[in-house]
Amino acid sequence: MSKFIIAIDLGGTSAKMGVLNDNAEIIDRWSVETDISQEGTLIVPNIIQSIQGFLNRENISIDDIKGIGLGTPGTINHEEGTVVSAYNLNWRTVQHVRDQFQEAFPVPFFMDNDANVAALGEQWQGAGEQADNVVMVTLGTGVGGGVVIDGQLVHGINQAAGEIGHMTIEFHDPIDCTCGKKGCLETVASATGAVNLATKHINDFGGQSELKSMVERGDEVSAYSIFQKAEEDQDEYALYIVDLYVDYLGRAFSHIANTLNPANIIIGGGVSGSGEFLRSRVEKYFKEYSFSQIRETSKVVIAKLGNDAGMFGAAQIVNNGLNK
Ligand SMILES: [Zn+2]
Repeated sequence: MSKFIIAIDLGGTSAKMGVLNDNAEIIDRWSVETDISQEGTLIVPNIIQSIQGFLNRENISIDDIKGIGLGTPGTINHEEGTVVSAYNLNWRTVQHVRDQFQEAFPVPFFMDNDANVAALGEQWQGAGEQADNVVMVTLGTGVGGGVVIDGQLVHGINQAAGEIGHMTIEFHDPIDCTCGKKGCLETVASATGAVNLATKHINDFGGQSELKSMVERGDEVSAYSIFQKAEEDQDEYALYIVDLYVDYLGRAFSHIANTLNPANIIIGGGVSGSGEFLRSRVEKYFKEYSFSQIRETSKVVIAKLGNDAGMFGAAQIVNNGLNK
């Protein structure tokens, strides 16, 4: 008899739920709005209620559910089954998430941080091609990361493994990071980082450029517009900024790969929408900065699953947890 996994990808605006069968196919999906009022105390009960509603509606017995997996923002305490510091969920105090799920459903429950879960999803069903050793770097508002070794997520002793965005990468005139340090990868290689570079280097470039004029006028500039101007318009200042950006990333990737020699380093997040234009440029610097055996084996690839990475990863933490 087939057993299903219920996967939950919890975010600040909605919780996306999916039911996966043994073939890793999402056979049903729905979402509920994330209600962060009352210090976020309604979030888990709302998710539980919607799962109960789904099981009743589809006439699925809880005995058919192999387990429930949750990807969530915040810091997880795996021993206690709690989450804290998920500010976009309004979870400032410790949330006893696992207890709530286990009280409602008598099936195994597993959870992990959303960046980790997305990395595991890509490793399992996306650009990781089920390789045992994969690192994912997510280029969004910040730079997130997840490390999979021997098919398992790496957490470290304080759940902080994979904080690739806070690798110190710039030593000359470094930009302040939201974490309190200076010169973190995130300050130069996130979507915000691309804009930081366009502002910081404005006086380095003497030529004609629409992007440069925009920055000088104080017009709103985004990572998207920088990459678009570089790729489509061949704007020279945009190309100069992109070259700095991919140099930082290639350097960071070489540090990761020189340490771990993963099969794939997966680039995800909004900036990865630039696709091959971004990938090939990062790869060029990655190869330049990597040790030869690393250069010949570790690949730089673009994420494939988009928003579904979190759901696949939430399902895979159930499989991994049950197979331990
Ligand atoms: Zn930082």
